[in-house]
Amino acid sequence: MHELAIVESIMETLIDQLRIHGCTKVVGIKLEFGAMTAVMPAAIDFAFEALSKGGPAEGATIETIIIPIKAICSDCGTETLLEDYLPFCPNCPDGALQIVQGRDEMKIASIEIE
Ligand SMILES: [Zn+2]
Repeated sequence: MHELAIVESIMETLIDQLRIHGCTKVVGIKLEFGAMTAVMPAAIDFAFEALSKGGPAEGATIETIIIPIKAICSDCGTETLLEDYLPFCPNCPDGALQIVQGRDEMKIASIEIE
């Protein structure tokens, strides 16, 4: 379960942000992950709840957005949104797909603190 390690590093960022802005409480955060990271929002929620207990982020709302995989065919140029990773173009016989979005993005989209 790599979500635990991810949330651990998110916690560090949150603590840094609180210090920088002179705030004491995290109200909410929004996270974005590329679909190919295979991050499970439910596991993020679970890890966040466990790790935030007793700290400044306890009770914060957490929203996890999974960015869909978007690929462009290097042959026909078709842009495809994929549910799962696919190495070849669904529209032409031998077009190789280039993943342009949804690969390994992992970021905090926004933090609300007070
Ligand atoms: Zn193609």
